[in-house]
Amino acid sequence: MTTKQVNKRLSKKVQSIQPSGIRRFFDLASSMDNIISLGVGEPDFVTPWNVREASISSMERGFTAYSANAGIIELREAISNYMTSRFSVDYDPESEILVTVGASEAIDVGMRAILDEGDEVIVVEPSFVSYAPLVSMAGGVPVAVGTNIDTDFKVTAAQIEAVITDRTKAMMLCFPNNPTGSTMNKEELKEIAELAERHDLLVFSDEIYAELTYDEEHVAFSSLEGMKERTVIISGFSKAFAMTGWRLGFVCAPKDLLSAMLKIHQYSLMCAPTMAQYGALEALKTGMDDVYRMKQSYKQRRNYFVKSFSEIGLECHTPGGAFYAFPSIEKTGLTSEQFAEKLLLEERVAVVPGHVFGEGGEGHIRCSYATSMENLELSVERIGRFLKQF
Ligand code: PMP
Repeated sequence: MTTKQVNKRLSKKVQSIQPSGIRRFFDLASSMDNIISLGVGEPDFVTPWNVREASISSMERGFTAYSANAGIIELREAISNYMTSRFSVDYDPESEILVTVGASEAIDVGMRAILDEGDEVIVVEPSFVSYAPLVSMAGGVPVAVGTNIDTDFKVTAAQIEAVITDRTKAMMLCFPNNPTGSTMNKEELKEIAELAERHDLLVFSDEIYAELTYDEEHVAFSSLEGMKERTVIISGFSKAFAMTGWRLGFVCAPKDLLSAMLKIHQYSLMCAPTMAQYGALEALKTGMDDVYRMKQSYKQRRNYFVKSFSEIGLECHTPGGAFYAFPSIEKTGLTSEQFAEKLLLEERVAVVPGHVFGEGGEGHIRCSYATSMENLELSVERIGRFLKQF
């Protein structure tokens, strides 16, 4: 940025960060008719009624005040039971769990809690677009490690080890992954755990898609031997529970880290919305059948999508989780940005160009299959027609 372009009213830090690359496509797509959107990263289900009703009931009962900073204790207890029963890792609801305003806030307070100016965080990419900017805004330096389709977008310990320096403080993992849908099994994660131990690194494990794992059991990083003490689990209700608009997430972390995050949360947010917390409590108490039902539906759509992509000549690894496919468009000779724009203009299908997700993302597009089968069928027909010109 030249001196001329610098706005003196704004911090240099903020000015050095680019707005999310996803936005431009949404703005373009929203100005057009008859668009099929495979662009959004959110469930197409409405939050199950019992969850909405529990939230309404909390308001009817007058629970409209601030909650405890860390979240209502009943919800923290429910999260603790959930983590034990689903992932075999125990967290103390009083000191190791924080309810946040989405997983987004969890990542933010996590980074702010651990980073001093210049500390490095290894970000495994392609990844959710917020990690690197949140590291930077906390004063840190994001260091990208790219994965690729040849290894199903899994990361190896050797790849991470290659970029470790004496400023490396933590690594950021996300499996199942947004945007690749990639998952990692216990053996693969153990390699990373050994590395974290060897170099004394913290591991931020974003497991917001844990319940949307289709082909194998999800393994919580902190459940690996010796890892609980160095792991921050980021999760939330947006995806598997279909609650994006409720803005509710949570962190499970060792006491010292959790209390530092709580301190930041307490000053910047006070607490997550109380009525949303009562909804989430109900979701954990009685909503797991709904989670399973939605998961089966995504799995069916994933199977259709991956099979159809291969039929129309799009190379795509089978995403083991989340609700995204990340096919390669390299054969077309276009960049992912050119491909996405041309596809939108010619066939009215909105996808996200892979480069916005960082290293390893170029040459791919992200297609969310959290939309109706009818839309998926139409999009396959349109993308198939589009590809014939190459
Ligand atoms: N992590 C990942 C991997 C995500 O894909 C998203 C949402 N796209 C988030 C975190 C943020 O979720 P929330 O709505 O809970 O802030």
